[in-house]
Formats: sequence, structure tokens, C-alpha cells
Amino acid sequence: MRIVDIRERTIPVSRYADPSIPSGGLDTSAVAVMTDVVRNGEAVIGYGFSSIGRFGQAGLIRDRFASRLLAANDDDLANERGDNIDPFGAWACMMSGEKPGGHGERCVAVGTLDMAIWDAAAKIAGTPLYRLIQELTGITKEITRVPVYASGGYHYPSDELARLKEEISQLLDQGFTHIKIKIGVSPLKEDLKRIETVLALLPNGGHLAVDAIYSYNRKSGLEAATALGPYALRWFEDICDPLDFEALAAIAGTYDPPIAAGEALFSVADARNLMLYGGLRVGRDVFLFDPVHCYGLPEYLRIIDMLKTQGWPLRSFQPHGGHLFNLHVVAALGLGGSEANVHNFQPFGGFSDDAVIEDGQIRLPDAPGIGFETRSALNDVFRSLI
Ligand code: MG
Repeated sequence: MRIVDIRERTIPVSRYADPSIPSGGLDTSAVAVMTDVVRNGEAVIGYGFSSIGRFGQAGLIRDRFASRLLAANDDDLANERGDNIDPFGAWACMMSGEKPGGHGERCVAVGTLDMAIWDAAAKIAGTPLYRLIQELTGITKEITRVPVYASGGYHYPSDELARLKEEISQLLDQGFTHIKIKIGVSPLKEDLKRIETVLALLPNGGHLAVDAIYSYNRKSGLEAATALGPYALRWFEDICDPLDFEALAAIAGTYDPPIAAGEALFSVADARNLMLYGGLRVGRDVFLFDPVHCYGLPEYLRIIDMLKTQGWPLRSFQPHGGHLFNLHVVAALGLGGSEANVHNFQPFGGFSDDAVIEDGQIRLPDAPGIGFETRSALNDVFRSLI
């Protein structure tokens, strides 16, 4: 059992369904991890990408982590039975010699390759990824559907309210019942108009979350929290700098509805600091840690274990991402729900081409692996790597 080659390419992505709208030059890394295992007459290849909303990790993947996987002995990567890749062994191989701390975005590079390794392992096992995760983590709970919410609502450079209304109406027509939009780019008064425009389409504030993408500081965050309080929103996300626990705790001390945080924190130690110093409230607030951002699934599982021992329920976890890999993770572990980036960050965001959202829930994919092959545009990107 060997990884015989790893291909990688940087691919531009847009926050908007219309990629001609400027989107800050975002990109992501797509990888193909090629094994010597043959299934159905073809060598098994696992695919992955650097989640979405940050940037690609080409140099780190190529020069540091892929080279360790390619140099590994068969025993380092195989499971005990010798019939599959052990994703935890592959993770240890990638992290050999790495020191704690200083995550930079090396954590995303590792998470990208980790995604592809899980895809390969589930394909070799001939099972959808969520079942393999359950098998390897000893979870037996049967899950057939997962709650999903639609993400979008980025600021438009023109016709802001009309375009926002059109975008959210389309998501509701697709079967979503819960929505998340971005705030913090516009002055607060204008954001309140955007929030009210979307709320007019929803039953109540409990169906709408807002994501400030770290726009506020302590003072402006407290002002925003005061203005948002009466809407009783589903959650208020990424309020201030991800490491400004003092500001977050001050805001949590005055804002009653749920707060969501953790999308840009990358390790168990980060998560523990957020829990200890961020002022978040057990059972009410939401953790957004993204498995792909925080060194992949092995570290994400450690984060969940740590927070579970501190009394946090599994429903508090709603990983950032909005794509197929994180959908499998949510399903396998029985987490609170999955984000869905169905029209932004294409072709990486969203689920299978034939996925049906019914009453805010999605049925689980049944293709072996993550099922990227069931997204034709994404399949084209991955096939182009090989
Ligand atoms: Mg966010």
C-alpha cells in the first residue's frame, strides 16, 4: 500500500455565484493523492481541497507534507489488517518533526491532504466516507439525514437589497429553511436594512444567522450586538479577531442570543483557549471549527473530545465549509448541522448534483468515498490534475 504520486494545483474561487464580481483574488489548492490500490480495474485516487474562504497552500503541500507521504514506508500508511490506508497513520507521517504552535496556515495544507486521504480510504473500503469515519471512531448511531443551512448573502457592489433578496429567495425555493448572510462590510445601519430584507422572507430571526467576518473590534462589536439583539437571530458569527477573546467575552456578556466562533482557530490548544476565555455559553453558543482548516479530521476529533469533556453537546458543532467532506463529518459524528455553499465558492461548495434539500435537510450521499465524482464540475477539476 503506497501513495505513488500527489498532484496539486491552485484554482481560483469566487464568493459569488457570478464570478465576475470582484472577490478578493481568493483561491484554493486542489490535490489528487494517487495510490497503488486497484478497485474496479482502476487505481484509487483520493481528492481534496483547502476548504474555502482562505487561500491555497501550494508550497506547503508540495515541499513539506506531500513529500513526507511519498517517502513513507508501506507500514507507516497501512492499517493493521494491511488492507487500507490508515488516515491516522498518514496524519502522523505528515506531522512528523512538526513542533506545536505556529500554525500559520500549515494546518490548512495538512487538512487538504487529509481530506484526500480519507477519500481514498473510503473508496478502498467501498463505502461512503461517513460510514468509514463511524467505523474507525466506534460510532454506531444510524443517521440518514442532516440539517443544512444555506450560506451566502455577501455584500453586492450595486443593487444591494434587490440582489440579496433574489439570492435568498432562490435558496428558499431550493428547500433551505435556514440562511446565513454576511455583515460588517457596510455601515451598521445599512446592514440592519439587509437583515430586515432577508427576515421579511423568513418565519423569524431564528432562521437567520449573520457572519461579520471578524469586522468588529470591542467597541463596534458591542454596538452591533446591541442593535442585533432584538432580532433574536439564530447566531452572530465571527464577530471580532479570532484571537481577541477579551472582546468576544465582553460582547458575550451583553448579547443573549447565540454566538458562533472558531472558524479561524486551528488546534486543540486554540479551541481550549476559546472555551476558557471567549465567554461562550455551554449549550447555547456554536463552534465553527472547520476540519480542513485545523489539520484535518484527526485534530478535529481531538477538539470535539476535549470540548465534550467540558460539557459541550455535539449539537453545538456546525463546521464551517459547506461542502461534501464536512457533510460526511457532520453525519458521521452526529453534529448540529452542516453549512451549504451551494452557489458560492464553485465548484467546491455544495453537494452532489442530484442532492435534494427537503425542509432544510439533506439525505446522505451513497457513492464510495466523499463523492466528489457526483459533482460534475468538481469532478472535471480533479480529473484535470491527473
Ligand atoms: Mg464565518
